[in-house]
Amino acid sequence: MPTISDEEIRKIIMPLMLSGAKMLDKHCPKCGSPLFEKDGRVFCPVCEHRKKQMAGEMKGVEERLMEKLTQLANSMPDDLDELEKHLRVMGLIIDLLERYRSLEGGE
Ligand SMILES: [Zn+2]
Repeated sequence: MPTISDEEIRKIIMPLMLSGAKMLDKHCPKCGSPLFEKDGRVFCPVCEHRKKQMAGEMKGVEERLMEKLTQLANSMPDDLDELEKHLRVMGLIIDLLERYRSLEGGE
């Protein structure tokens, strides 16, 4: 059952109505929000907002991973065993980053 929260109605739909976007008589099949039309474009404001929010959260993860990677790159141990572990972790982080980037590039 598709749902939108009261908060989404208050924060996304209400301001949109006030901004002069036209509320259509159709609903989004994914979340049940009314669809809007603005500048000739029909869209679901709730799904767009959710997508943006998710992209924002992923950006945060990416930034933290980059930070960690830089940290690791700046503190390579001399001991070879330790170095190997270090590099393995760096490899994992790079893999993750690549995966995040391909998720984001999906649009
Ligand atoms: Zn929607």
